[in-house]
Amino acid sequence: MAVLEQLTSQQAIDLEKRYGSNTYHPLPVVLSKGEGVFVWDVNGKKYYDFLSAYSAVNQGHCHPKIVNALIKQAQTLTLTSRAFHNDVLGKYEKFACEYFGYDKLLPMNSGAEAVEAAIKLCRKWGYEVKGIKEHEAKIIVCNKNFHGRTTTIVSFSSDETANKNFGPYSNGFINIDFDDLEALETVLKSNKNIAGFLVEPIQGEAGVYVPSEGFLRHAKALCEQHNVLFIADEIQTGIARTGKLLAVDHENVKPDILILGKALSGGVYPVSAALANNNIMDVLTPGTHGSTFGGNPMAAAVAIAALEVIRDENLAENAGALGQLFRSELNKYIETSSIVNLVRGKGLLNAIVINDTEDSGTAWNICLALRDNGLLAKPTHGNIIRFAPPLVMTKEQLLDCVAIITKTLKQFEK
Ligand SMILES: *Cc1c(COP(=O)(O)O)cnc(C)c1O
Repeated sequence: MAVLEQLTSQQAIDLEKRYGSNTYHPLPVVLSKGEGVFVWDVNGKKYYDFLSAYSAVNQGHCHPKIVNALIKQAQTLTLTSRAFHNDVLGKYEKFACEYFGYDKLLPMNSGAEAVEAAIKLCRKWGYEVKGIKEHEAKIIVCNKNFHGRTTTIVSFSSDETANKNFGPYSNGFINIDFDDLEALETVLKSNKNIAGFLVEPIQGEAGVYVPSEGFLRHAKALCEQHNVLFIADEIQTGIARTGKLLAVDHENVKPDILILGKALSGGVYPVSAALANNNIMDVLTPGTHGSTFGGNPMAAAVAIAALEVIRDENLAENAGALGQLFRSELNKYIETSSIVNLVRGKGLLNAIVINDTEDSGTAWNICLALRDNGLLAKPTHGNIIRFAPPLVMTKEQLLDCVAIITKTLKQFEK
């Protein structure tokens, strides 16, 4: 088989299975093209993408403005390392700092790396500014969190599949329940060594859990009261996904450290970042952190274009309006449904909960049927299906998707 020969679906799947490490369980569909809200498989069948690469493709697949920025920069200068300056990084840092309202940006590549950077930044601040005794700093995290796959991050995951047999685990984390202000306050009051509280404003991977109204605002206030950094992992919720630029904007909360990834590049290149003001970021000095690819000119050019698209195309507003329409249309269906319990979410980050046991396979089978009907989604945990299309969707397209989803669900009603 010539390497560049067009593969059939089965050939592509078999190659991955034979030669790839087996860390994912993909829906059996092999994609070869994407544009806007659509993707196409190797047979030319067209689908609505209702996952958007876990919200990395908020701007739509292959957005021409972002792709052009990538091509132009790729033909000019791709990588210098941080041993030398480049003429794009500073422009990007200024642009992003003004865009999100912070003094400084720390550029990384993957989401997990940006979380790691935030953890290091928080601990160093804890020792050097707050005055915690060395090696004693603690960071509060939430049960059912998802912050990435590094050894430190899986150390405080409550997902056994994610961390079993990957120990010894990193110390220094205290788990509480998500959306539990009392637990947060109890830990903050009883421990003087807390440096930060790391939280997803909506727990995406866990199954799109939206906290109670006021949770983020009160949590931030408690952190301030105890001189603890509020660290928001907005890798999935940020950049217009939930109907505002950031999910914390729904409660007018300003995180001390903001973590971004995924849609920061519109899905064309791995770009992530941690942002903070000088009183925090200045604890990092030459040699204390770094990355060969972090802050490279391609990433910088791509991220500027990706953020411009969000603003120029009013994608936050669109996500907000379409999200309301989506939930209200699905709720109409759910009233008479026995197979779906509820729809929840914010903006265009939503999930439905299937009325069946977690290991029934019903959610998986529904996703296979959705695929056959021209829409791609994936179960997150057991019986939960996440719906997160690109934000460049039109109202007509969204109603078309609702029709596909309800038609498919009907096939499963008892
Ligand atoms: C995806 C995700 C990450 C990890 O990002 P990677 O780029 O896969 O390392 C971290 N936090 C949240 C909330 C995410 O959704």
